[in-house]
Amino acid sequence: MDPLIEIKNLQKSYGKNHVLKGITTSIKKGEIVSVIGPSGSGKSTLIRCMNALERLDEGEIIINGENINNGNKISRKIAMVFQHFNLFPHYKVIDNLINPCKIVRGMSDKEAKKLAVDLLEKVKLLDKANEYPSSLSGGQKQRVAIARALSMNPEIILFDEPTSSLDPELAYEVFDTMKSIARSDLTILLVTHQINMVKNFSSRVIFLENGHIYFDGTPDELINNTDNRIKQFLEKVY
Ligand code: ADP
Ligand code: MG
Repeated sequence: MDPLIEIKNLQKSYGKNHVLKGITTSIKKGEIVSVIGPSGSGKSTLIRCMNALERLDEGEIIINGENINNGNKISRKIAMVFQHFNLFPHYKVIDNLINPCKIVRGMSDKEAKKLAVDLLEKVKLLDKANEYPSSLSGGQKQRVAIARALSMNPEIILFDEPTSSLDPELAYEVFDTMKSIARSDLTILLVTHQINMVKNFSSRVIFLENGHIYFDGTPDELINNTDNRIKQFLEKVY
């Protein structure tokens, strides 16, 4: 089977700051891949490139055989969940789902509402449908953001540190929701600092260091690795 995502020699700089120095990897449909690495190592840049939020300097990203280079094609197959939720504060929770479904997917009011209700139920927030985001906890906001990502019917969801601004209990709620949405046909990339999430959620982990992929393997292989740099990193994040 061809990989769903192919990244070939991806390079990205901001001015003189050479952030991604040739990333080459491929990801199969249904894989759940964690991306870890020190702050500033380019984790967010990598997934922003995949979502066509950044221009690539060199190399290519091919998703389902389609080249998404240079930000000129934003694929609806990819949804993103950010650290700071990025909900529309002036829309009720349910309208945070309904409006994108109407605008982006061209759904009717009725179809969009039905999907929004189903998805809010899935993330256990149907009772908050008519509230504004400001009255929700951080964990609840993030679960709305996950429902909104799902409403785009994506093939790929990119999570950029979805729980790192939450205290542990709320982070756990969000993590539970993330686990509940995993399906064999949904491919997930998760940027995280939380090794527990890496272990309990993903089957594969990529360690970015200084613009390169330093390690790519299973969570067990990472945790039991004897490489000094990996050991040093894990000591810091544990
Ligand atoms: P990480 O997510 O691993 O912490 P980032 O991908 O956010 O790292 O950032 C990698 C490097 O690129 C950092 O040095 C950061 O300052 C820089 N950077 C990220 N985004 C921008 C931007 N929009 N403009 C300029 N520099 C940026
Ligand atoms: Mg980041």
